[in-house]
Amino acid sequence: MIIEVEKGNETTLQQIRDLAARCGNKVEVEDAPLFVTACVVGDTRSFESRAGYLRGLPGVRQAWAVASDYKNIARVVRSEDGRAHIRERRPVEVPGLDGLVRRIGAGKHVFMVGPDSAQELEQVLAIAKLAKAIGERFGVLDRIILRGGAFKPRTRPTDWRGLGMKGLAMLDAAREETGLPYVTEVMDHNLVPEIAAHADMLQIGTRNAQNFDLHEAVGRSHKPVILKRGFGNEAKEWFFAAEYIANQGNLDIVLCERGMKTLYVKGGYCRFHPDLNVITHVRKQTILPVIFDPSHPAGDHQIVGQNMIASLGYLVDGTMTETLHTESFREQQLCDAAQALDMDKYARLVEAVLRFEEHIEPALRAVSGE
Ligand code: PEP
Ligand code: MN
Repeated sequence: MIIEVEKGNETTLQQIRDLAARCGNKVEVEDAPLFVTACVVGDTRSFESRAGYLRGLPGVRQAWAVASDYKNIARVVRSEDGRAHIRERRPVEVPGLDGLVRRIGAGKHVFMVGPDSAQELEQVLAIAKLAKAIGERFGVLDRIILRGGAFKPRTRPTDWRGLGMKGLAMLDAAREETGLPYVTEVMDHNLVPEIAAHADMLQIGTRNAQNFDLHEAVGRSHKPVILKRGFGNEAKEWFFAAEYIANQGNLDIVLCERGMKTLYVKGGYCRFHPDLNVITHVRKQTILPVIFDPSHPAGDHQIVGQNMIASLGYLVDGTMTETLHTESFREQQLCDAAQALDMDKYARLVEAVLRFEEHIEPALRAVSGE
C-alpha cells in the first residue's frame, strides 16, 4: 500500500508504523520535496482494510492499494484506477564482524567469493584470509563477502552433499578470523532458524528456486538472502518467488542470475547459458539488487573471468564467484572442482572490475540512460 504524507506530520507517520506493526507489515519511507511516501510491505490485506482510517489522518494526501503483480518488489507500482508510483532501487546491507557494512545495490560492485563448499577448515580459512587480503590491497574490504556451501543440493543422490553444521562451524571460524560476513545455502525450511543463527546471509539455490515453504521460512528469518533464478524459470516466475520472501516482511533480497538450461548448452561447451540481458530487466522491473554468478554457467575455471567481466556491461550490482586457495586442492575438491578459480587470478579480476568502474562505467551509464 502507498500512502503519501505531507512533510512535518511525524505523528501520522508513527500511527502508520504502529498499524503496520500490528498487521505484521513493515514501512519503507521514501523522501520527496513536499511529502514522504510510506510504502507498506508484506501481506498487506489486513492493513488495507483500514484505508478509511488512514485517509483521515492529518497530512495524508492519498492512500491506495497496489494492484500490480509482485507488488512488494516492483519498481513501478500501480493502483487499480491507474495511479502509479516509481520506487527507488533499494540496497541490501550485510554487516560484518569487522564493523564494515557491505551494501549491495548501492552503486559499487560487491565481491562475493569463496569455495563451492566448506570441505576442510584449512581450505576455508585460507580462502577467507586471501579474500580479506585482496579487499585490503585494493581498498574494497567493505565490498567483500565470503561464500561457502555447507548444505549442498546435488543432482545425483550419491554425490557428496556437504558437511552440514560442521561446514557452518568452519565458516563461523573464518568469520571469527577475518571479520568477513558469509553467505551460505539453505535447503530445508525446518533448518532455516538454526542456519540463520550462524550465517550473515542466506542463499536459496537454483534447485530450490520455487520451494515456497523455504522462501517463507527465509522471509520470516529476516536475514538478507540471495535468491538464485531457477535454471528453467522465466523472469516473472523468479519475481513471484521473491514475493514469497517479501510477503513475510523481508525485503532484503538480492536476485542472482546463474545461467539457464537451454537447448544450446547440450553441446558441452558450457554448463548453463548465462542470461545477461535479464540483469537489465531486473534493474528496470524491481527495486532489488541483482548479482551474477559467473562460475556455474562456465563449468570451467578458464571461462569464469570472461563471464564475470561480461556481466559488468550490464551494470550488475555484484558477482558471486567460486574459488580455490591452491591448485593442488582441485583434485581433492568434492563439488564443482573444474570451475574453481585460483585466488591470484581472482585478484586480477577484482582489479579489472575497479578499472571498469572508474573508466568505462560512467560512459556506459550515460548511454544506457541510468
Ligand atoms: C552454489 O552456489 O554452489 C550452487 C549450488 O549454485 P546453484 O544453485 O546456482 O547451482
Ligand atoms: Mn557450486
